[in-house]
Amino acid sequence: MGLIEDELDEVRRCCETQVPYTKVVTTVPAMVRIEVEKTSFKKIIVCFLFPSEYPSQPILIELKSKTLKDKLLTGLTKICEDEAKKNIGKPQIILVLKLISKFLEENPLSACADEISTLKSLLGPEDSIRLSQKSSTVSLKLQKNRYTLQAKLTIPENYPIERVDIGATDCNFPRVFKVWFVENAKELARRCVEPPLKPKPNQPRFEAKTSLLPAAKFLIESVQRYPCEPCQICRQVLFPADPEAAIHNEKAAAHVERVYCGHAYHHDCLILYMKTPPFQNGKKCPGCGNRIYHEKWKVTPELAEARWASEQAKARELGDVVEFIKDCTL
Ligand SMILES: [Zn+2]
Ligand SMILES: [Zn+2]
Repeated sequence: MGLIEDELDEVRRCCETQVPYTKVVTTVPAMVRIEVEKTSFKKIIVCFLFPSEYPSQPILIELKSKTLKDKLLTGLTKICEDEAKKNIGKPQIILVLKLISKFLEENPLSACADEISTLKSLLGPEDSIRLSQKSSTVSLKLQKNRYTLQAKLTIPENYPIERVDIGATDCNFPRVFKVWFVENAKELARRCVEPPLKPKPNQPRFEAKTSLLPAAKFLIESVQRYPCEPCQICRQVLFPADPEAAIHNEKAAAHVERVYCGHAYHHDCLILYMKTPPFQNGKKCPGCGNRIYHEKWKVTPELAEARWASEQAKARELGDVVEFIKDCTL
C-alpha cells in the first residue's frame, strides 16, 4: 500500500478513538472529510486534499462551519496549515484534527466570538472587558462618572441553546438597581432561549438565539444611563454625584424609584404624582406616555379616583371647619 492509503487506513481505524469529538465521513484518496463536533453549535467540517507531492508537501485543509464565524475559521485554518508544515514527511491528518479538537475544547468563547467583537464596540470610554477561555467567562467593568458595575457573564457549554448566566461582582448603585440590573439581564437572556408562554398567532416557530449580547448591552446602557437620569416630575438628576451619598432607604423621600418603562422618579415625587388626577386609564409616565407600573403602587384607576375624592372631601370638610372657626372668632 502507498503512504496515502496507509494514512487513510489509520484514520479509519484510530481517528474517532484517538481524537475526541471526531466522526469520519469520507476517506478516499481524492477527498477526506471529518466532522469535529463538540456541541451542535461548535461543529467544524474538515476537508483534506492530498497535494501531488504529499507528504513532502503540507496537506491542503479547508474548514467549514454553519455556526462558527469566518474570521475564526480563517485563523484556525492558518494554525492548522502551520501544523501540517511542521510535520512534512509524516502523516498529517490526525495531527491536524487533534489541534482542531483541542481548540474546541479549550476555547469555549469561540461560540460567541462575533458577539464579543460587537460588545467591544458598545463599551463606554471608561468601560473595560476581560475574557477568560479557561473559565468560559466574559467580565465587564462598567463605569459612568463614579458609579460602577462589575459583572461576570458565564457562557455555558451548550451555548447558545442554554443562556448566558450573569452575576454582579461589584456595584455601588443602590441595592434595588443592582438587583434589577442582574435580574433583568437574566430575563433578557432567558427570552432568547425559551419560547414565550403565550406565543402570538402566526408567529414563526421559536428558535433559540444567542443571549450574550442582549444581556451585556442592557448592562452597558443602564450603567451609562442612570447616573445622569432625571426625575420625571422635578427634572433633577436622581443619583448624587458621590455614590457614597446614594440613598438606600427605600422609604426615603429621595429614594430613586424605577418604573416598568425604565424611567425613574424620586420616591415622593412619584407618590404625589400617582395620587393626583387624572386617573383615567392609569397614570402615564411623563417621559414616554406609557402607563406606570410599579410594585409599590398597584392601584387601579378606580381606587385612585376614590381615594382622591375622599381626600378632597376631607380637605373640604377641614376647610369648612376652619372657615367656621374663623367666623366664630371674628
Ligand atoms: Zn423628583
Ligand atoms: Zn417612561
